[in-house]
Amino acid sequence: MNTPSFRAPAPAGRLTLDGCTVVTMDAAGTEHRSGHVVIEGSRITAVGAGPAPEAAGRDGAARVVDARGCVVTPGLVNCHHHLYQWVTRGLAVDDTLFGWLTTLYPVWAGLDEDIVRSAATAGLGWLARTGCTTSMDHHYVFPEAGGDLLAAEVDAARRVGLRFLPTRGSMDLGRSQGGLPPDHVVEDLDTILTASAEAVDRYHDPSPDSMLRIGLAPCSPFSVTGELLKQAALLARDKGVRLHTHLAETLDEQDYCREHFGCSPVEYVESLGWLGDDVWLAHGIHLDDRAIGTLGATGTGVAHCPSSNARLGAGICRSRELRDAGVPVGLGVDGAASNESASLLEEARHALLFARAAGGPQALSTRDALRMATIDGARALGWDDQIGSLEPGKLADLAVWRVDTLPHVDIADPVAGLVLGSPPPLELLLVGGRSVVERDRLVTLEEEAVARDAADASRRLLDRAAGH
Ligand code: ZN
Repeated sequence: MNTPSFRAPAPAGRLTLDGCTVVTMDAAGTEHRSGHVVIEGSRITAVGAGPAPEAAGRDGAARVVDARGCVVTPGLVNCHHHLYQWVTRGLAVDDTLFGWLTTLYPVWAGLDEDIVRSAATAGLGWLARTGCTTSMDHHYVFPEAGGDLLAAEVDAARRVGLRFLPTRGSMDLGRSQGGLPPDHVVEDLDTILTASAEAVDRYHDPSPDSMLRIGLAPCSPFSVTGELLKQAALLARDKGVRLHTHLAETLDEQDYCREHFGCSPVEYVESLGWLGDDVWLAHGIHLDDRAIGTLGATGTGVAHCPSSNARLGAGICRSRELRDAGVPVGLGVDGAASNESASLLEEARHALLFARAAGGPQALSTRDALRMATIDGARALGWDDQIGSLEPGKLADLAVWRVDTLPHVDIADPVAGLVLGSPPPLELLLVGGRSVVERDRLVTLEEEAVARDAADASRRLLDRAAGH
């Protein structure tokens, strides 16, 4: 492949990728060992086997990229994250979820908008470098003097160039009321609902080409009140936006729900109007057959976060059973403070390995793992009409992976190379036809400056927590 062909494309022009393996992730699972993808402006106009037709991609106006030696997939879709955590990686590394949270809440109490902007820029930049084109974010810590944290992460996504679904998270159940977080990091119900409504009114763009959609995301059963969950669901449905929360992550949470509500986590949120095809839940590990059936029957999605779940020793999501029940199961890196890698392709690998370790060799196929990282993730986010597969008419969000170098060159199945092998070099990442990564480098921002900013932000936050 020659270098100039991977310069940033003009979004208004036509771009043809030729000679590559194309893994479409469409409903039929269509793959072309040597094929093409044609992009006009922000959308895909043709996908097929062999070279692109002259009329589609090879006339004088077209920019044709020789993509031999590469695999093209839909851009990966990240269904669960806490971007601010980028600047608190490597803390409480041998603790349980509740122990880890208790250590980190006081540190996060020092967040401000500059720190969140730096953390989100680094986190989104790294997601882009590892093949992700759309990410959600779940931000739920809003210190009183922190400034406009949602605006800061929206700004970060615009600068990096990723499609973004930040959720206005929240906590209103402090320790004095029986919750896990200290009182000084929670907000009151009215403040949360007002800020949530404002976030939707200010940012939510439901249009087909949208780069920015908003969701509402009270944090978890042990950090928010039932009243907040109820009111947030009413507000989200009134505004036409999606709902997200952590659920069934640990046995501690299960015990907490039994003790405080007399039921399982799924029964608890069901009683508050929290199941439906406009809801997706992070983790969904400790689910019995009945709970899985309920999620399937209601169309509720799950964001499976295998690396974070393993890092915190929380357990292994029953992804096979969830998929069999018709649950849209996407993948999430979870916050970088409980998954220091924060790379989505690695989640596909871990989803497959953990599913097979727990459920045998047929528990999850390589294609299923890649589907979870792409089209099924898009379903979980309610965005599968526009993204998640390579099909004419869909947005041109795609990843071009190089598989002709030492780690992958002789592998018989390039999808196995992606899912089971080392993460390959990322030759090109397009979001709506715009180039975000070329040859393993961000092209929208200067990586060294992003890294420096994140390091400075981390130092400020940890100094603040230490009382300096
Ligand atoms: Zn999380």
